[in-house]
Amino acid sequence: EEPPAVAAVPQAGDPSLTLLRRIGVVDPSSLDDYRAHGGYTALRRAFALGPAGVIREVTDAGLVGRGGAAFPTGRKWQATASQPDHPHYLVCNADESEPGTFKDRVLMEGDPFALVEAITIASYAVCAHRAFVYIRGEYPRAVRRVQHAIDQARARGLLGDDILGQGYHLDIEIRRGAGAYICGEETALFNSIEGYRGEPRSKPPFPVEKGLFGKPTAENNVETLVNVLPVLAMGAPAYAAIGTARSTGPKLFCVSGSVDRPGVYELPFGATLGELLDLAGVRAGLRAVLLGGAAGGFVRPDELDLPLTFEGTRDAGTTLGSGVVMAFDDTVPLPRLLLRIAEFFREESCGQCVPCRVGTVRQEEALRRIADRTGAGAADDIALLREVGRAMRDASICGLGQTAWNAVESAIDRLGAWT
Ligand code: NAD
Ligand code: SF4
Repeated sequence: EEPPAVAAVPQAGDPSLTLLRRIGVVDPSSLDDYRAHGGYTALRRAFALGPAGVIREVTDAGLVGRGGAAFPTGRKWQATASQPDHPHYLVCNADESEPGTFKDRVLMEGDPFALVEAITIASYAVCAHRAFVYIRGEYPRAVRRVQHAIDQARARGLLGDDILGQGYHLDIEIRRGAGAYICGEETALFNSIEGYRGEPRSKPPFPVEKGLFGKPTAENNVETLVNVLPVLAMGAPAYAAIGTARSTGPKLFCVSGSVDRPGVYELPFGATLGELLDLAGVRAGLRAVLLGGAAGGFVRPDELDLPLTFEGTRDAGTTLGSGVVMAFDDTVPLPRLLLRIAEFFREESCGQCVPCRVGTVRQEEALRRIADRTGAGAADDIALLREVGRAMRDASICGLGQTAWNAVESAIDRLGAWT
């Protein structure tokens, strides 16, 4: 049995926090304990507001997606709810696979009823009566705990027919992934649930119009959904007052690498990278920080005053993504690190489109040549990497191919790798 993810939450149970407040405090198997810690007050408020009122509240709160792309949640829900085609579906994307991301696991293992309550609210808002949670296959404990929470909620009238006597009915089903990174891409995930190969579909049409089984679907990340609870519990204005004007609310960050206390941290948007690394105990000799995971970009040690917001990281030429913060000290060989990232993308490419299928192989080959020659004579290979990277970014079907060159490009341009 793997160690509990809650061990990786240095701030576990801190009452001043919003998302991690119950982690390590509440008994994840007890609905009564969840209720004793504020559980199911948000659903009651949702029923009082009605579906349109919930969407208005989420929109006014400024909540944007926490899976990495920061799309406005209220806009997604409104677009789904307004589709004339039925049925509508709600899909929770819990296929957390971005290297260095482990926040959704902590939420599912430590506070599973929160996710079930949040899915119920989201489904109610978009007029769905069937919801799916697609959980990464490597998270067996999360599967067990969320399934137990679903069963308990159903037994106590919080799922199934006539929830809380409000005439609304909903069933939630879990689907397990089988180890493919690409199945976290929302349309590949739909294919996987439908029993097809996990290959991304072209967008548009967006899932809000044609998603799971070709029907209007709102797909949201675990952390996004769990944020809906404080939005409703504290009200949109109070929630929007946390963070910055354009990145509202609290954010979970997954800190790993050359730090003394790796783990999941909660901070309001707008805190700086340096403040986060101070909490995690950054080690001497810091060489670079990778933000946003394998598809993200590097930040130098002289840039630690970078505000952790979607807009701040974008303006600085990197990305916040799903909240990955990987610190590397000067003992980490950069060429090997980049080669490892390239291997990952080559391995996880679904092979459906040429730029990504071929480009990820060419990228890995060039990086291996550079790593084997410790950088000597790298100019030709860097030119090739740029050409291949541009083709992948411009012509790939989905985000995997479009971002497979991000980290390598950033290492060359921001860290001065091989120059
Ligand atoms: P995207 O920008 O294409 O879409 C983001 C969301 O907004 C999707 O749900 C999409 O359907 C919706 N959307 C976008 N435009 C829309 C429109 N006009 N109308 C209605 N809906 C619209 O991004 P993506 O490819 O879905 O996701 C990329 C992100 O995923 C990256 O930022 C990356 O960091 C992240 N990611 C996260 C993980 C993880 O484990 N959490 C893994 C891999 C990638
Ligand atoms: Fe598949 Fe890569 Fe094309 Fe995405 S970009 S569809 S992962 S081959």
